[in-house]
Amino acid sequence: MSGDFPVSFRYSRRAKNLRLVVKPSGVELVVPLTVGKAKALAFLRQHCAWAEHKMAELRGQAGNQFPQALKSGETVPFQGREVPLLIREVPGRGAKVHFDGQFVISVPPGPPAQARQRTRAALLTWIKVWLRDEVENYTARHTERFGLQPRQIRIKQMKSRWGSCGPRNDINLNWLLAFAPPSILEYVVVHELCHIRYRDHSAQFWQLVSHHLPDWANGRQWLKENGADLLRRLE
Ligand SMILES: [Zn+2]
Repeated sequence: MSGDFPVSFRYSRRAKNLRLVVKPSGVELVVPLTVGKAKALAFLRQHCAWAEHKMAELRGQAGNQFPQALKSGETVPFQGREVPLLIREVPGRGAKVHFDGQFVISVPPGPPAQARQRTRAALLTWIKVWLRDEVENYTARHTERFGLQPRQIRIKQMKSRWGSCGPRNDINLNWLLAFAPPSILEYVVVHELCHIRYRDHSAQFWQLVSHHLPDWANGRQWLKENGADLLRRLE
């Protein structure tokens, strides 16, 4: 139907309403015997985006919180701003992303569903590679001075936290930080690095943070005021 995922129809004598059952492998449309095919298809069309979103969630794909349908001329959230998006058809092997204050995505001509999927995947990959690079830079900048060496840094999707530092100095960072201003990303990296020395939020901890980032309080305040919104907005 949408071309993006398998849809099966199940006709049911008992069902009273049209209903979509989403599984990681595809979508099942439950159709009461009293409902005609045209109406069932209209219902499916109407709920396609929702089903796709739900399925991505079930598959645990990072990036399901990014806008599902990327449209040329609209904007996407990035680094605390709304960045203009330009999508153009360019013959070639795969989708390519170029960023110079706006995102320009070149996609090979093809069926719309495929182009949509390629565009989105290319942009998410680009953002994750960009974020990894930024995190490496901030880590390099702050790690040496006080010998705060993480064992590894993982970037992943987290529901309610921006970062964490495990007992063996494994640092996790929420990939949604790509959507916060750069100074906030730096603050969270520094915050977690400082937990290598102090596991708590004691006065010494904050003192160490302030040696790295004198204006750390702004970052903390920003997250207090905007963090929940950002997480919700990208749900
Ligand atoms: Zn902390």
